[in-house]
Amino acid sequence: MATVDYSLRGKIAVVAFQAPPVNSLGHAMRAGLVAALDRAAADTAVDGVVIIGANGTFSAGADIREFGTPAMIRGPSLWTLNNTLDAMPKPVVAAIEGVALGGGLELAMSCNHRVALATAKVGLPEVKLGLLPGAGGTQRLPRLVGVENALNVMLSGEPLSVQLFAKSPLFDRVVDSDLLGAAVAVAEASAAALREGKKLPRTRDLKVREPDLDGICQFARNTAKTAFKDYPAPLAIIDAVHFGATRSIDAGFAEEGRLFKQLMDGDVSKAMRHLFFAERAASRVAGLPEGTAPRDVKAVGVIGAGTMGTGIAINFLNAGIPVRLLEVGQEALDKGAARIRQTYEGQVKKGKLDAAKLEARMGLLTPTLSYADLGAVDLVIEAVFEDMGVKEKVFRQLDAVAKPGAILATNTSTLDVDHIAGFTARPADVIGLHFFSPANVMRLLEVVRGAKTAPDVLATAMALAKKIRKTAVVSGVCDGFIGNRMINQYSAQALQMLDEGASVEQVDGAIEKFGFAMGPFRMSDLAGNDIGWHIRKRQYAEGKLTRKAVVADRLCELGRFGQKTGAGWYDYRPGDRNAQPSKVVADLLDTVRKEAGVTPRRIDDAEIVDRLVFSLVNEGARILEEGIAQRASDIDLVYLTGYGFPMYRGGPMQYADSRTIYEVARRMQVFAALPGADSAFWTPAPLVARLAAEGGSFNGGGA
Ligand code: NAD
Repeated sequence: MATVDYSLRGKIAVVAFQAPPVNSLGHAMRAGLVAALDRAAADTAVDGVVIIGANGTFSAGADIREFGTPAMIRGPSLWTLNNTLDAMPKPVVAAIEGVALGGGLELAMSCNHRVALATAKVGLPEVKLGLLPGAGGTQRLPRLVGVENALNVMLSGEPLSVQLFAKSPLFDRVVDSDLLGAAVAVAEASAAALREGKKLPRTRDLKVREPDLDGICQFARNTAKTAFKDYPAPLAIIDAVHFGATRSIDAGFAEEGRLFKQLMDGDVSKAMRHLFFAERAASRVAGLPEGTAPRDVKAVGVIGAGTMGTGIAINFLNAGIPVRLLEVGQEALDKGAARIRQTYEGQVKKGKLDAAKLEARMGLLTPTLSYADLGAVDLVIEAVFEDMGVKEKVFRQLDAVAKPGAILATNTSTLDVDHIAGFTARPADVIGLHFFSPANVMRLLEVVRGAKTAPDVLATAMALAKKIRKTAVVSGVCDGFIGNRMINQYSAQALQMLDEGASVEQVDGAIEKFGFAMGPFRMSDLAGNDIGWHIRKRQYAEGKLTRKAVVADRLCELGRFGQKTGAGWYDYRPGDRNAQPSKVVADLLDTVRKEAGVTPRRIDDAEIVDRLVFSLVNEGARILEEGIAQRASDIDLVYLTGYGFPMYRGGPMQYADSRTIYEVARRMQVFAALPGADSAFWTPAPLVARLAAEGGSFNGGGA
């Protein structure tokens, strides 16, 4: 609950606000502040005001939960608050400790004076939500710290030490202690100056002094156009600064307001705000009793020192958690340990790690060949071959040695976690921890909740994910979990378009233009085409895949596994990872189309993109309905953090929402009617059909 305390220190009113945890400037806080300012202005016993955060921090800015709701502009708005400050007849001093970010800094800049504790940080992070500082920040900051500094603050969005600006008019004083005392002294001195007939200093009365304004802004625009190609906010920030600097501050305010609204209503900011909330929502797990205490994890075991096992181990070593790494043979074990060291050495070379830290981290690693060495650890993650027989052997051995209460996790990508749990006498302690490759780099962690996984095991996994800086998303058990189950549909659709007439380069090119980091075929060449082949063979055998992926299978029969064999969907020159169009693949496509009696059809980029993305969306809807994913935003998070889906589009489900589900369903009908189409593939999931009929959306109600 937001409260604003009002007290007197001599003739200075101290207005202390608190809305834990970060003093965000929601409606109640704004109203409280304006009332306190009015009271101080009217009280003849008061000479000046100090505004300070009551709980060790100033303010982290606007209350983002109000964004897009009527509360955001409900009076008094941040604008009214800042105008009230501009019109105050008595000096107002902002006393800053902790952070003053976004609207918090804009509020401070509207005060007559600012005093900060040397440890405090200031910043305008709006750009990270696809916005610009919309409460005067684009106009006041350049007047206080100069255009170049202001652009750096606003375009980076990073919180910066107040000491960087200690000599600028942004701060009257930066102090090491007694912030309130210093602020009161500044207020008293300012009140005395006022009595002597001096004018109160106001940011709005300052001029922007920058002889090379056009040059600096042009340079910033050029940089923004390449560095933030698909993001409109950086350019809008530069435009707002330039506009106000060449006209008046009031003209600048008006332009800032116009651009803010435009950004706020645009799809990019909506997508970025969606991501912000999605990250917070993902940590809430349905059915997990409030206050479930996680188990203590002081030491971890990793089984299998291959690609994934080594990457997984690095995560824990980085977090200072000792790791025991187990392999079947000495050679594989040595290779795994050497790979971990090499990764760290690479970081040392790049200056990201120092040699002492490298040794400290390697010192936490204990390679072993003996299961008995896993008896004392609190969590074991298995990353051995993707084969149920091998997993069974591993889990039976683990069950025999692991201490009671130890969590037994599998990194399987496709196998049934419940089945694996059944190899132990303690299925409640078994969970899936699905890391993505490279496991020490990729942010995503799918936490796979088995039918019998205990709540505190789940809580432990979520807490641990935070510790090793992963974005955890809970998934139920199914083939491929959330991410891979959806990507299988996307890959099937990519292959289908090759059958119909598209080229490999065209499919990749279209989806890369849409914003994916890599198209499906370049991606497959990187990961290894044999992985999918292996899975398909199992699925053919289980009858789970009725349509054969003829081209993909033949490609693998030719030994074209991708980059690792120097040939895949593309050709690769020795030592060069750049994909070159392949005549062999083009001929293979011709042959397969002729065999199937298909006349190739030209497929345009818009169709390619919609077929790929909507195949994700349709499967995502099924995953939601089945309760595999808890919410649409979890699915978006999986795709944004694990699959290279363009950030500024907010994930597949959010993108579908932006297109409207009605339009998605309509496009599916068109695809189902195409010559050679798999019409069953394009049957809308019941949830898609329902939302299309109701005008609902995945993320904004209706689902
Ligand atoms: P990998 O072949 O690189 O490594 C597997 C390692 O396990 C090998 O070093 C092997 O010697 C070792 N091993 C095999 N049997 C063992 C046993 N009984 N005891 C101890 N060690 C044993 O494979 P990987 O790519 O690291 O995949 C491992 C697991 O991670 C699989 O379940 C896979 O599905 C999953 N996974 C892989 C990826 C990926 O992109 N590679 C991504 C997510 C999950």
